[in-house]
Amino acid sequence: MTKYTIGVDLGGTNLRVAAVDEHGVDEHGKVLERITLGTQLSLGRDQVIDDMCAAIQGLKDKHCASLELVGIGIGVPGIIDMQSGTVREAANLPGWAGFPVRSEIERRLQTQVTLENDARVATLGEKWLGAGRGVDDMAMLTLGTGVGGGLVLGGKIWYGMSGMAGEFGHFTVEPEGHPCGCGSRGCLEQYASATAVVRMAKEAAAAGAKGLRGLKELSSKAVYDLAMQGDQDAQEVFRRMGRALGMILADLVNGLNLPMYVIGGGAERAWSAFAPTMFEELRARSVVYAASVPDGQVISGTMIARAELGSDAGLLGAARLPLM
Ligand code: ZN
Repeated sequence: MTKYTIGVDLGGTNLRVAAVDEHGVDEHGKVLERITLGTQLSLGRDQVIDDMCAAIQGLKDKHCASLELVGIGIGVPGIIDMQSGTVREAANLPGWAGFPVRSEIERRLQTQVTLENDARVATLGEKWLGAGRGVDDMAMLTLGTGVGGGLVLGGKIWYGMSGMAGEFGHFTVEPEGHPCGCGSRGCLEQYASATAVVRMAKEAAAAGAKGLRGLKELSSKAVYDLAMQGDQDAQEVFRRMGRALGMILADLVNGLNLPMYVIGGGAERAWSAFAPTMFEELRARSVVYAASVPDGQVISGTMIARAELGSDAGLLGAARLPLM
């Protein structure tokens, strides 16, 4: 019997579920079916879990005759305690902290469940079917509401001693910089997330930036559009983002010397606005990168790649979890 898994991407806005065939084309996964529901966070945790279980059960019923379900993988935007299968901290999921999500869903669905942090799940997705296909060692930065990270070594996620490795979003960019939710200050997340773009644009508008002041709605997309129209102040916001990313990439390249670093997440769409400064900074700060990619000619590797799967990275990575 062909095996398959079910992946769940639990986002703040959408709850997405997909059944993925283990084999498919070229040993890569093939999506059999996908379901997108709104995440009804305001109705409470139990409602979200009810919706999730109903969608999974529907897929199970449909495929049980012809396929064997290996397990269910769930990507959650928060810090996960892998051993107990609980959400340790999730700022965007009120009421979830401390709740035994894994055992509750296993009890209801009678199937093995793996919980994982959403940035790591996205890293796994890009490694399996995206930019990192065929690469055994890679790091990924996901630029979203915050900045997440994931590290793959020898084809496997690197967890560290207590499962907390890969928090690249909290690497320091400015020692006395903007306070961060993690308790430190000047973290990458405060300069390279969608939230940071909006904050930096607000600061610039308050300091007199005309174009930014004139925006009806201050969203990261609006700031990006303004930058693309040539507004200097909006462009400066993305140059700050690029500098911060370049600094941290240089640290990662110097420290790890991996063949690939993938940039993903929703704010990655502003690539054309931040990437030139990012590469400039990276080259200036990393002797390892400069030696590996002299004058933009790739000699020994060090790929800085854009993620390929978009928001599917999390969904496909979650479906990969039960096979790891
Ligand atoms: Zn931080």
